[in-house]
Amino acid sequence: MAIQVLKPKFHVEECLKEIRECLEKGWTGMGFKTVQFEEEWKKYTGHKYAYYLNSNTVGLHLAFKILKMRYNWKDGDEVITTPITFVSTNLAILYENLKPVFADVDDELCLDPEDVERKITNKTRAIIFVGYGGRVGQLKKILEIAKKHNLRVVLDAAHMSGTRYDGSFPGTWEGVDVAVYSYQAVKNLATGDSGCICWNDPESAELNKQLAWCGINKDTYARSNKGTYAWKYDVDYVGYKYNGNAIMASIALTQLKYLDQENERRREIVKMYNEGFKNNSKIKIIPANHPEECCYHLYELAVPDREALLDYLSQFEINCGVHYRDNTEYSIFAFGHGSCPKAHEISQHLITMPLHMWLTDEDVQLIIKKVNEFVK
Ligand SMILES: *Cc1c(COP(=O)(O)O)cnc(C)c1O
Repeated sequence: MAIQVLKPKFHVEECLKEIRECLEKGWTGMGFKTVQFEEEWKKYTGHKYAYYLNSNTVGLHLAFKILKMRYNWKDGDEVITTPITFVSTNLAILYENLKPVFADVDDELCLDPEDVERKITNKTRAIIFVGYGGRVGQLKKILEIAKKHNLRVVLDAAHMSGTRYDGSFPGTWEGVDVAVYSYQAVKNLATGDSGCICWNDPESAELNKQLAWCGINKDTYARSNKGTYAWKYDVDYVGYKYNGNAIMASIALTQLKYLDQENERRREIVKMYNEGFKNNSKIKIIPANHPEECCYHLYELAVPDREALLDYLSQFEINCGVHYRDNTEYSIFAFGHGSCPKAHEISQHLITMPLHMWLTDEDVQLIIKKVNEFVK
């Protein structure tokens, strides 16, 4: 059977059991399992607040929306970001009429603190950091820079479900204003589509609840008119319909139970790959500075001729992938073209190796053998 690049493994019977509960109870929307999931996610990560969403993309939008409201940012204010990421990271900046300013990446494909500091202007308000592939990169240095220049920090933690660093979840670190996770169909904690936003302060978390659910404010009435006016609520913001639902949360609750165990298997596979490629001088392994606690959402190599390798491997039904183009190559971000030479160069050589729960050790050895046969 062909080897796929990313393929989620669902614990089907357990997922169905949770979903059945929703169906029998007649509760498939917001609440019930979504609240259970938020509680479990807080317990698992140590985040103080968690709000279950229908995707990470909408969470990133809320992050910028709320920061802009609370800190009185103006249209055109700048957010420093990475050019190699899924486009949502950078779209979210545009949703709020802010300006993405691209900074270059380091060897781990995460933001390079030196270039970030060079790109700070008097209009810079925030940095969005992507924990690329589950790596933490130089986030600590980025947090120091943010503190020094009084900037907010958004963590796009789409790849980071399960990543720890010295035992703690980077999203909970002081200086990270908000972390946004993705449980999209091929992420480490896969559902269909959903995500979670975790603020570090109660005011933003409260505002988030309202904005993520059509601006609805139940509290004022709930407090003053117990009982009789339970149906009555106010709408005092132009909110959005961004909440997640109980069916997706059923899957998330089930998959969460296996997340650490599955991430351990990912690390095992990565070790085999690293071992297999370490003596090949034509291959550049993307390193991680904390391999023991990284959730390894993606395993990429930089090779001289990526297209040829993709073609070669497909003959053996080994399907690798290509993840992110340098976002400044997209029309909407063309203004940033040329601003990040390292990201631009390496993004043309990156190939994503298969990494998921369906791979056997033999599959991994076969992939290593075929790659080394071709790249030499
Ligand atoms: C997947 C992904 C997103 C978007 O997540 P969704 O849940 O699909 O909206 C954002 N950023 C990065 C880096 C991603 O990989």
